Amino acid sequence: MTTQLTSNLLDKNEPQNSYDIARQQFTIAADHLGLDTGLRKVLMAPKRELTVNFPVRMDDGSVEVFTGYRIQHNLARGPAKGGIRYHPQVSIDEVRALAMWMTWKCATVNIPFGGAKGGVIVDPQKLSLAELEKLTRRYTTEISLLIGPETDIPAPDVNTNPQTMAWIMDTYSAHKGYSVHAVVTGKPLNIGGAEGRKEATGRGVQYVTRYAAQTQNLNLREATMVVQGFGNVGSVVSKLLCEDGVTLVAVSDANGGIYNPKGLDVRLLLDYSSKQGTLVGFPNADYVTNQELLELPCDILIPAALENQINGDNATRIRAKIISEGANGPTNPEADRVLFDRGIFVIPDILANAGGVTVSYFEWVQDLQRFFWNEEETNARLLQIMTKAFKDVYRVAQEKKLDLRTAAYILAVGRVAEATKTRGIYP
Ligand code: GLU
Repeated sequence: MTTQLTSNLLDKNEPQNSYDIARQQFTIAADHLGLDTGLRKVLMAPKRELTVNFPVRMDDGSVEVFTGYRIQHNLARGPAKGGIRYHPQVSIDEVRALAMWMTWKCATVNIPFGGAKGGVIVDPQKLSLAELEKLTRRYTTEISLLIGPETDIPAPDVNTNPQTMAWIMDTYSAHKGYSVHAVVTGKPLNIGGAEGRKEATGRGVQYVTRYAAQTQNLNLREATMVVQGFGNVGSVVSKLLCEDGVTLVAVSDANGGIYNPKGLDVRLLLDYSSKQGTLVGFPNADYVTNQELLELPCDILIPAALENQINGDNATRIRAKIISEGANGPTNPEADRVLFDRGIFVIPDILANAGGVTVSYFEWVQDLQRFFWNEEETNARLLQIMTKAFKDVYRVAQEKKLDLRTAAYILAVGRVAEATKTRGIYP
């Protein structure tokens, strides 16, 4: 039965569906851990899935109905944690995959949360600020069946930000009749946000990339990097690694990328993108598509946008030495095998981008205690957690001669499996 479960999943041609990919990644780790069939079934299925269809009155007086999800994957190690994304391509299977990845991510860095994710099918660019606020408040009300400081704590993800979190916190609090700061993380500082949370995902990517460079004998001052995505993760990690002396040669956003092998000035890029709303058209750089960008020569490649970017089609053409996954799910298992065979050092998403949820954990702890830390303290604790996680994963990879993703999964799935077994089955 176990082998059948494995081969059914692995025999399929390269899956494009994120949930299939997530289950395939889980199965690889489950095989290494020798998990029994019952436990596999428990860990593979999301615990709770909520679909909501809700109306929003638009600025022109018309009514639009939006579809959203909140999915909790596994709660054995603590309350559910994970972001909310607004994107036209959100689907239930994407949210299932993202929720599962959050379970493993929290376990990789060993913070006491289970995994969850939320999403609304919407192109936020097409909505006014007032419409976005109404959508957010109604979606919050619909998912308040699940969320709460002890149960499920959302955070920002693709196309959501501290303002979105403020509306969620305010809406949830309005229903309760008192302020509940700890219901979301990634909030603005003036309503219980944590110093350093906004930069935390990018900072975490910086920390692990530094360690990866050490293991690969790569001098960051002589290294070049390519970054896909210039949102909260891509823009911050670009800036931080440039401060470490890395030369940024190409970067992109949803509209496409720009390339200059001599280097791009990240401060000018930040300024240009905030004024123009895009990087495209940035002076003294060539236009590249998001796909071409991935195949540019560089030392460090940071996919920091969406899932399924590096796959069986392009993995042989990737020219980076290190890939640091700022995004969730940018590389599929087929590409993982190719990259490993080619000696490319991949720092998997559940490790590389775990800085965000780690500082979310700090924010939640501070909100619950009503006692706040400064940024120095936050960054020092983040460094401690990311360092330990990187070393633990790297050790398993070395010992078992595996890629880092499989090593991270062995650690994370192992921890969740233990917790699930210890708690037992009720009744
Ligand atoms: N959306 C982020 C992630 O994918 C952060 C989640 C959180 O802070 O809860 O890790």
